[in-house]
Amino acid sequence: TGRLYDPVSGLLNVHLELSAAMGIFQRIFEYLDLEPDIEDAPGAKPLSKLQGRVEFRGVGFSYRPDAPALQNLSFEVEPGGMLALVGPSGAGKSTLIGLIARLYDPSEGGVYVDGQNIREATLHSLRSQIAYVTQEPFLFYGTLADNLRFAKEEATQEEMEDACRRAYIHDFIQSLPEGYETMVGERGHRLSGGERQRVAIARAILKEPRILILDEATSHLDSQSEAFVQEALEQLMRNRTTIAIAHRLSTILAADRIVVLNEGRIVESGTHAELLDEGGLYAQLYHTQFVPSEG
Ligand code: ADP
Ligand code: MG
Repeated sequence: TGRLYDPVSGLLNVHLELSAAMGIFQRIFEYLDLEPDIEDAPGAKPLSKLQGRVEFRGVGFSYRPDAPALQNLSFEVEPGGMLALVGPSGAGKSTLIGLIARLYDPSEGGVYVDGQNIREATLHSLRSQIAYVTQEPFLFYGTLADNLRFAKEEATQEEMEDACRRAYIHDFIQSLPEGYETMVGERGHRLSGGERQRVAIARAILKEPRILILDEATSHLDSQSEAFVQEALEQLMRNRTTIAIAHRLSTILAADRIVVLNEGRIVESGTHAELLDEGGLYAQLYHTQFVPSEG
């Protein structure tokens, strides 16, 4: 069976070939709330293996005329560097990360990876080097192994287990009577929120992306799960360019730089200490939005 919409399945690691495909399809577009109308430009070239520098140059984006969602955004993230995005709800954070994977194109300016405008690259070569880890990871009905291999079909058992060790989920999987062959997803073995997140992190590790996009949850896991997820994220972020919509204080503190968005604009940018010192929006959000790090 063919994939219904390969670019997005490649990005979100969602298995669209399954019977639930339409449900998943709808869910993706509910979440992202957009039409799949981005295609390869005529003469698009595949990107070679990326170093992972990401740059926004004067980026603007509007869903509707007269209501820009993002305006004049410029920033860069070095290969292997980490940028944390912070801002109130509706500030444009999800819109911004969607532009990196070309879920839609800017109306002004451009997004560049390794100095190349992503509009001129093939979607497949871009999205195959990006992993997207969300707050609600999706597991389809199938074995844990199938769910993991979705990121890399040819992965050996050893590679899969290694990724799971690094995501702090291997021991848990081994403890299940059917191990990696345990059925999960709808109708399958129920995993806790923290376990699902770590499976999703293992899947992303297996994909070995140069660029990681992380959309963290605002909700609390219990403190033991939280500690495991945090360790797993540290493994995943190591040596990759990471752009995170950050809610965990530990993620924010790990960032090289924090960019604060409000009403589609960058209003502050700096390190945690600098921004707290400024006493502006970041300092306000710090006391209300961030999940304390435990464990
Ligand atoms: P955040 O992730 O920071 O909460 P979003 O990127 O989701 O912010 O939204 C930024 C702005 O764009 C908000 O005003 C939101 O209402 C608007 N927006 C988001 N998605 C759409 C859409 N599909 N159509 C129209 N407006 C949208
Ligand atoms: Mg959002």
